[in-house]
Amino acid sequence: MKNKVAVIFTGGTISMKIDPRINAAIPALSSEEIMAMVTNIEKFTDVEIYSYGKLPGPHMTPDRMMELSKIVKETIAREDITGVVVTHGTDTLEETAYLLDLTIKSEKPVVVVGAMRNGSELGYDGPSNLSAAISTAISEQAKNKGVLVVMNNEVNAASEVTKTNTLSLDTFKSMYFGPLGIVDNDEVIFYRDITTHHHILTESLESKVALIKCGAGMGSDLINFCIESDYKGIVIEAFGRGNVPPEMVDGIKKAISKQIPVVLVSRCPMGRVLDTYGYPGAGKTLRDSGVIFGSDLPGQKARIKLMLILGKTSDMNEIRGTFEKGIYKKK
Ligand code: ASP
Repeated sequence: MKNKVAVIFTGGTISMKIDPRINAAIPALSSEEIMAMVTNIEKFTDVEIYSYGKLPGPHMTPDRMMELSKIVKETIAREDITGVVVTHGTDTLEETAYLLDLTIKSEKPVVVVGAMRNGSELGYDGPSNLSAAISTAISEQAKNKGVLVVMNNEVNAASEVTKTNTLSLDTFKSMYFGPLGIVDNDEVIFYRDITTHHHILTESLESKVALIKCGAGMGSDLINFCIESDYKGIVIEAFGRGNVPPEMVDGIKKAISKQIPVVLVSRCPMGRVLDTYGYPGAGKTLRDSGVIFGSDLPGQKARIKLMLILGKTSDMNEIRGTFEKGIYKKK
């Protein structure tokens, strides 16, 4: 049977052109127009187009991500479908890819792709990225790898990848160990695998989760605002190994006393948070107060994870268990 890949177009720069009236890029290309530029793909696979939207990355929402997850799940379950590709704005691509990774359990490849240059620019990378993504979606080797992100001929795991550069074509990086593989001459070659696949199988999510980044001397006012505004969870991007300004501790304790989970990650691009330090505001005191440690996730991914967990449970121990399982000593 011939391969068939479903390509779900959601928008992003890959669907944009410069509007001469405002001299800025806006969504303009239809799914069919983009697909027509991926020449010769019919040699490898049939393609089914699904036009979900023309959303710039910043217009994507967690609720829309959940809707997409449902569509991908239904599509990938079809017998005639070999794999699914999702086109996406690069600004929030890693969040959608991570949400899909956590919510979809399938051996078939699901690949998320975008472009850094729009259709009016020299070197528009949309068609070549899409071609590489489709090559990945039909690759036997890409099975059981979780959701993958393919850009600039590199294959990364959704759980590891992050956007690192506002401009360059190789902006998507897996900071620790590099990409899982490459796409070379329409062929996918993997060099390594990831050892753990996490899933949070839920139909709903809690979107009222805040993300607060620490800066020197910050206090509890933003946390207090979240408590007053009925936020259901808070992710804090702490300093270094997982420490916050001492003036933030009161707010954190107050949130926890109101059963609002507080998840701590680091504002450093790499490395776990750990309860190494014991001074006021440091990791040890925070963990003893009930703060949940979010390992090496960047804030935006920890937020997606907390939203999904809160879609299933509000039990603090269960939330802690999902974040810290196998990573930290039991509390
Ligand atoms: N701002 C754009 C977006 O996320 C960037 C991109 O797609 O590369 O829609």
